[in-house]
Amino acid sequence: MDLKKYIADVPDFPEKGIIFRDISPLMADGDAYRYATNQITQYAKDKGVEMIVGPEARGFIVGCPVAYELGIGFAPVRKKGKLPRETIEVSYGLEYGSDILQVHKDAIKPGQKVLVCDDLLATGGTIAATIELIEKLGGVVVGTAFFIELTDLNGRDKIKGYDIFNLMEY
Ligand code: 5GP
Repeated sequence: MDLKKYIADVPDFPEKGIIFRDISPLMADGDAYRYATNQITQYAKDKGVEMIVGPEARGFIVGCPVAYELGIGFAPVRKKGKLPRETIEVSYGLEYGSDILQVHKDAIKPGQKVLVCDDLLATGGTIAATIELIEKLGGVVVGTAFFIELTDLNGRDKIKGYDIFNLMEY
């Protein structure tokens, strides 16, 4: 299936000069969403994944149906202040300034094989911070999976040594 048909290219969002790759048409099409989910589910099976972690908010859209399909758990990574129980956190750099991501302290069991899911890999900052959180809890990141990788931004250089699975490249 040609999944790029289901990505809307939005010029000048959220800022002038940026083309935003909008995945909502893909999610809106049941066949396309299921096809994308099935591809990542197969990758997760091949990697022997035991737990899925995704950063808010679109990491949930990618990761949760895969977890459901495999009958395994999903743990959310969220911006500071959103999770109600004890958390650990990392700060990560943005183009201007920095932000903080958190995960519940009991989200991952030590040694658990984790797949990290998000909709899109750009500079890699979000996924590198998510990996750091998982490893602080003793989880083993066996792979990362994305609908889209923006190859020009070299996000893979930020997560060298980790396996990357994508469904589309721009
Ligand atoms: P990075 O941290 O790799 O620079 O940026 C990736 C994060 O920003 C992801 O969580 C993703 O949801 C969001 N993001 C950045 N650019 C885009 C885009 O063009 N389309 C979508 N759907 N998400 C984006």
